[in-house]
Amino acid sequence: MTTLPSGLHSQTRTLMGWGRTNPVTAQVVQPISVEQLQELVRGAPPRSLIARGLGRSYGDAAQLNNGTVIELPAFDRIELDAASGTVTAGAGVSLDQILRAIVPAGFFLPVTPGTRNVTVGGAIAADVHGKNHHVDGSFGHHVQRLVLVDGKGSLRVLTPSSQGNGDQAALFWATVGGMGLTGVIVEATFSLIPITTSLISVDTTRYRDLELLMAAMVEADAKYRYSVAWVDSLDPKGRGVLTCGDHARLEQLSPAQQADPLHYDPKALASTPPFLPGGLLNKLTVRAFNEAWYRKAPKQREGELQAIAPFFHPLDGVQDWNRIYGPAGFLQYQFAVPNEAAYLVPRTLEALRQVGAPSFLTVLKRFGPSNPAPMSFPIPGWTLAADVPAAVPGLLGVLDQLDQDIQAAGGRLYFAKDARMHSRVVPQMYPRCQSWYSTWLGARGSQIFWSAQACRVLAHCQST
Ligand SMILES: Cc1cc2nc3c(=O)[nH]c(=O)nc-3n(C[C@H](O)[C@H](O)[C@H](O)COP(=O)(O)OP(=O)(O)OC[C@H]3O[C@@H](n4cnc5c(N)ncnc54)[C@H](O)[C@@H]3O)c2cc1C
Repeated sequence: MTTLPSGLHSQTRTLMGWGRTNPVTAQVVQPISVEQLQELVRGAPPRSLIARGLGRSYGDAAQLNNGTVIELPAFDRIELDAASGTVTAGAGVSLDQILRAIVPAGFFLPVTPGTRNVTVGGAIAADVHGKNHHVDGSFGHHVQRLVLVDGKGSLRVLTPSSQGNGDQAALFWATVGGMGLTGVIVEATFSLIPITTSLISVDTTRYRDLELLMAAMVEADAKYRYSVAWVDSLDPKGRGVLTCGDHARLEQLSPAQQADPLHYDPKALASTPPFLPGGLLNKLTVRAFNEAWYRKAPKQREGELQAIAPFFHPLDGVQDWNRIYGPAGFLQYQFAVPNEAAYLVPRTLEALRQVGAPSFLTVLKRFGPSNPAPMSFPIPGWTLAADVPAAVPGLLGVLDQLDQDIQAAGGRLYFAKDARMHSRVVPQMYPRCQSWYSTWLGARGSQIFWSAQACRVLAHCQST
């Protein structure tokens, strides 16, 4: 156990990820200053610390059994620089808090995942992506500066380009997507998207099969900033609903809306929860949900004005929806594959149907170019995410086989969603993991920062 600096108290807690699998017991600390955090790191034994944001990663990335888990609610500064279109925020600040500060001032996040309840630290550590990856890339693309307490307890100010010091740029990119293993991010500055309204102009189209849907998504790449498809995972044809959008311009708003074009009130807007299957989740309830969800979508609708919360974060309106899977929890299987391996999308859906794993949340997105971060997930092509109950018999064997197919096709799984990946697939899925590993060793991260996920997935990176 770590000896805590004077004045820093710990609380013993059971921790798990959003999927509610793999619980651990850890001592949780909340340092109140950088100096206290540095002192904690300097006194910590090897592989004893890991940072945690809001625990929205699905598996065991933000926890360590019998370790010390660092939460940063005290790192809550938000400073908007409207002239440069950037914000500087403490790592413990949530994207929800940032949106409340920047939207009324005419700015939007460069990238937002499907929930705004993630921290700046978690967004950088997982290098999260949104519905605009094909246009804007992932979160790390927009970070101009980050401040890290590394494994020696040193405070490092890191930027994406070398500025004569290649080591610091390497550590920057090892931290982006590095899942907390290079140190604790305490603050970051990132660029924002200027907006003139807080509404999104949305086009929605239903497709009766997956082939048509995927063809439409490729076309949408050049037309829209945001696009996402919901797929009916139980339909053998893979019917789905494609939703595309862009920030609405002032002239698209009604006169009443134009009176307050940057209005932002996510609570009120999200008070109509999306329709979720109630009660017990099984094949029948998921089938009924999927049918209703497909029918509810218009065959085709253009220019509908939607608020930020329902468009980007529909599930945030439903508290604790992750509990509908019962005590065994659920897994989110998310992979990315190059365009040439698009066939793995229908193959995965078919394999999940065969094993009887019902998914009501099956989401398909497009990815554009990657960034320099060796452990960042997105690669150009497709990404599919499917939520499945963890207790389905035979599921793990099917997923292991799918991992092999994805790896062979040059694809990869997403660490932020993973709760079960085997370390042997990591070197091929992340071919630059060895360079990441060297940087990590240089930052002395290996001696201090470690997570339950790292125990599972890093063994083969060390030996390649
Ligand atoms: C409903 C839902 C929808 C989602 N949609 C998307 C999506 O569309 N796209 C996407 O990319 N992801 C998505 N996610 C996943 C989520 O964005 C990531 O898992 C994100 O990392 C969670 O942030 P967090 O603050 O909760 O971090 P945690 O889950 O607590 O931690 C995640 C990782 O970040 C590290 N970390 C946290 N804080 C720090 C810090 N200060 N310094 C260093 N490391 C740190 C942790 O050690 C851990 O490895 C979704 C999750 C949910 C629940």
